[in-house]
Amino acid sequence: MPAATLDLERVTPNVFTTTKLRGCNPSFVVTSDGVVVIDTPQLPTRAVAMRQEAETHGPIRYLINTENHVDHIFGNHWFRGAGEVVNHRALWEIFMDPGAALDPFAYAVEAIPTDDPDGAALLPDRDDYYADLPRGTVVFTGDLTLRVGDHTFHCLWTPGHTPGQLAVHVPEEGVVFTGDTIFSGCQTWLMTSNVDQWLEALERIRALEDVDHLVPGHGPVVTLDYVQTQRAVLLAWKAAVADAVAKGWTREETIARVRFDDAFGPVDVGQAYMMDHIQNNNAGSLWDKLTATGYAKGR
Ligand SMILES: [Zn+2]
Repeated sequence: MPAATLDLERVTPNVFTTTKLRGCNPSFVVTSDGVVVIDTPQLPTRAVAMRQEAETHGPIRYLINTENHVDHIFGNHWFRGAGEVVNHRALWEIFMDPGAALDPFAYAVEAIPTDDPDGAALLPDRDDYYADLPRGTVVFTGDLTLRVGDHTFHCLWTPGHTPGQLAVHVPEEGVVFTGDTIFSGCQTWLMTSNVDQWLEALERIRALEDVDHLVPGHGPVVTLDYVQTQRAVLLAWKAAVADAVAKGWTREETIARVRFDDAFGPVDVGQAYMMDHIQNNNAGSLWDKLTATGYAKGR
């Protein structure tokens, strides 16, 4: 099988990412003492290709996942044996959670026929995947700093989009990998989120110094000032649904009327068919939270 296309982008001399695949923006950083991978490609042939590409620069020392959503972790399966897997405990506990509203294994497999037909031959069956779950071997709470060669990896706990969300700041490269705390130029998925925590996470990222490049979870690489755009998206969603609740709209009325299909760009690569899923579940999940007893007094 020929090597699958990754469309790798060299962000700095030592930082590589790809923003063109279905799935997240998997990335790696080359140090003087091996490679650190941040999130893995969801599509099997791309995961195999990225591991091969990363290993041409040295052994993989760590694989850091920024969140538990399947597009960031499913590909870990093809990185087994390549360094320690670093997970926040709140991610580790729900790694490939079969109880999730959107079944993670089924959603990963759904992409194979259309986006990675050659990947079908590489795919383990569900029982085999779950029997050897490729989750964290280094599991922590709060923040964690790793030193690899001459590079520092500040794994910053930035919950909001998901409970175990991480941003990885590499000051020597002037780069921060935010995971899905930032969706640049594409639709934001809110349904497993705590928007108020997410707004705090954005402020933590905004306060980082000497960041030249922000590698988002989805969409093109941007600069740190994109934090302001993401903040505006979250505030617009929250305000629109709060307004619906104030008008006494039911959950169904809110889902029917509150939509941002056009305002916040397309859905990221390969998932255009999920537009209704995103709009309906963003509005519905926010309605649930804003109408929950005690919300106004608490968070
Ligand atoms: Zn994602």
